[in-house]
Amino acid sequence: MDKRHDKRNCRRRRPRPRICLRQGCGQKYQPRRWNQRYCQDPECLRLLRRWQAAKRQARRREDEAVKVQHAQAQRARRERAASLPQPPKPIEVAAARGHAAKVFAHFLCARPGCHEIPPKLSRNQAHYCCPACRQAVRRVLDRERKWQFRGTFQGQRARQQDYQAARARRCPRQCDAASTTPPRPPP
Ligand SMILES: [Zn+2]
Ligand SMILES: [Zn+2]
Repeated sequence: MDKRHDKRNCRRRRPRPRICLRQGCGQKYQPRRWNQRYCQDPECLRLLRRWQAAKRQARRREDEAVKVQHAQAQRARRERAASLPQPPKPIEVAAARGHAAKVFAHFLCARPGCHEIPPKLSRNQAHYCCPACRQAVRRVLDRERKWQFRGTFQGQRARQQDYQAARARRCPRQCDAASTTPPRPPP
């Protein structure tokens, strides 16, 4: 039996081959799940885990740096206050710290596997080291969003309409009957 006309096979949404998202891998693979991002090669996964650990540590170090900076500022303020014959002001801790932490939140490039340090743009830290890394991640997020949309009733209807329009362009007279088939049930 021809595999393409097997009903069970037709109903399953099978993803097309993809390129691994990890920076420096570039391997083509057949995904087993719709949201699979990496090729599953053991060496690739090992390098991916190494990057994840590096990213976590970079964040921890940045948090540490922010805390140290804050403590220094507090100490300087206390010393200034002690040297002047003024009543000490109330200490504002939470706001300053939250803001500082936000500014330093990203250190390594946000593309999995990329160990480059993104440039500092005027005041903010960039998330990606280069446009290529940003594009690679955006493409994947886009693909996952589209895949999820296709799973909804609204998405299936939109696709059905696209197919009907394409069929009508190919054979304007014959396919009127075929266009009335009901939409596929959601998986
Ligand atoms: Zn890979
Ligand atoms: Zn990068």
